[in-house]
Amino acid sequence: MPELPEVETVVRDLRPHLVGRRLASVRRGSRQSLRKPWRSSWNAEIAGRLVQSVSRRGKWILIELDSRAVLVVHLGMTGQLTLVSCADPIADHTHLIFTLKDGPVELRFRDIRRFGSAVLFPSPSDVEVFFVQAKLGPEPFDLPVQYWREQLHGSKRCIKAVLLDQTVAAGVGNIYADESLFAARLHPSRRACDLSDAECDRLRKSVASVLRRAIERRGSSIRNYVGGSGLQGKYQNEFRAYGRTGEACPRCGHAIACLRLAGRSSHYCPICQTNLIAVNAAESVRRQRKRKGAT
Ligand SMILES: [Zn+2]
Repeated sequence: MPELPEVETVVRDLRPHLVGRRLASVRRGSRQSLRKPWRSSWNAEIAGRLVQSVSRRGKWILIELDSRAVLVVHLGMTGQLTLVSCADPIADHTHLIFTLKDGPVELRFRDIRRFGSAVLFPSPSDVEVFFVQAKLGPEPFDLPVQYWREQLHGSKRCIKAVLLDQTVAAGVGNIYADESLFAARLHPSRRACDLSDAECDRLRKSVASVLRRAIERRGSSIRNYVGGSGLQGKYQNEFRAYGRTGEACPRCGHAIACLRLAGRSSHYCPICQTNLIAVNAAESVRRQRKRKGAT
């Protein structure tokens, strides 16, 4: 599933080719409907409009038009939003085709599994309301230290589940949760409330640095992900834990293990991310808090 780095790559690929360009028309490429059906009344609202900005929030792509309407796209599991030459044949599973005035490329939304969606909102404030209703958390870069500690200390869930929770921080999915926990040397099954302040901070920094590096590498191409230009990502070549079950840990050489947590597979090194230290650390955190509470 495309996560923050993949969605950011799509946005960065599309931006220079779309901003300042006028959309000419929209047409359906298939009869099958997406997770949220496309309304035919939106075609007329989009035709002739100038693209003002292309941005990202969490895993959502926002294309704002000069009418103030915003096209909000989610790639779901297998979505691709790419600029393709108008002359290229339409690939299977292409659901929407946005043509640009004067071509020679057009924007195509393709989604094999159809968990993705494209919805037109009347204005940026309607999009904001939608995100507030969805309780979408802040972007994972520059998370306020105190906010992050409170989110972790306030949850009895395992840290892997908290990382995947879009209401805590938006954009992290299974790949980057595993890679961030590996970088921070934290066992995915530890309870979030047992983490020390120092461990919370380490995880916060790891999440940001893993995501930044993944953006530099244009995200990870597993399954069928490609950026907005159709080019694949390269971060999958740098995975240290994710999807490497049985392979040697790049830090200590022990075999990477896999565990089912929060309904997802979690890849980790049982030595570098040991839970033994975790148990001791949790005990000392509890003692520390008790002492704090007593004073
Ligand atoms: Zn290791």
